[in-house]
Amino acid sequence: RIAYVNGLYVPHAEAAVHVEDRGYQFADGVYEVCEVRGGKMVDERRHMQRLVRSLGEIHIRLPMPLAALGVVLRETIRRNRVRDGIVYLQVTRGVARRDHYFPDPSTPPSIVVTARASDPARAEASAAQGVGVITVPENRWDRVDIKTVGLLPNVLAKEQAKTAGAREAWFVDKEGRVTEGGSTNAWIVTAEGRIVTRPAEAGILRGITRTVVFEVAEKLQLRVEERAFTVAEALAAREAFITAASTVVMPVVRIDGHPVGEGRPGPVARALRETFHQVAEVAD
Ligand code: PLP
Repeated sequence: RIAYVNGLYVPHAEAAVHVEDRGYQFADGVYEVCEVRGGKMVDERRHMQRLVRSLGEIHIRLPMPLAALGVVLRETIRRNRVRDGIVYLQVTRGVARRDHYFPDPSTPPSIVVTARASDPARAEASAAQGVGVITVPENRWDRVDIKTVGLLPNVLAKEQAKTAGAREAWFVDKEGRVTEGGSTNAWIVTAEGRIVTRPAEAGILRGITRTVVFEVAEKLQLRVEERAFTVAEALAAREAFITAASTVVMPVVRIDGHPVGEGRPGPVARALRETFHQVAEVAD
């Protein structure tokens, strides 16, 4: 495997950043994960837009023009011979003597790109079975709209899920409403057949997959309601599912050990998953 690190393509096993990198010292950086399908990036344009936004919100400059970044992403995918998988991109505030204040503006941001293949058959097997989620109290900061590498609450919540035999942890706010998963957006399908997901204005990351699912639903003539839902509502729902670039649409069949609907993946999640790649943008 090959990784791109600050201008060089290096063997993945030897790819490293400096101990004084602010990503390492302070989690002072942001990232993106883009699905790769048939060797091509899915929704690259939107992922790059979100990267630019995340960087802007924490005042890190884009380390290179977007066109050049596109070349690096493609080259990393190519050198790793990834057909189906993900490409990962991380930008930090660079290397400087440890000090909370921003370093001198001349400090170049650090940039790392890696790519990894996944097994589509395994993902399909998961989707056919559905996954479980647990619920945990929301304990993250209120800027989760920024795709920062500071993911300790997410790490702890997902590990707790794994220990409980579940795939994902859903964060729940003080009003009992689900915000999102540790690395996914959360959705339900009500008894009336409405698809419900929390508005992106409050308490969640605006997932790219989430945005595309709105378009997929429209194509399938399914109604989407952007509003918060409670855990109780999710337990009474006909279906539930999670979305992320790495998993697309994944049916949720258990919440805290209780079955959702009939405890099997439902038709809405299945249709959204099957139609997703007809709608998502793929560029050469
Ligand atoms: N919410 C969180 C906290 C995430 O970390 C992610 C993806 O990593 C998502 C939602 C889904 O976003 P996307 O669909 O852009 O992958």
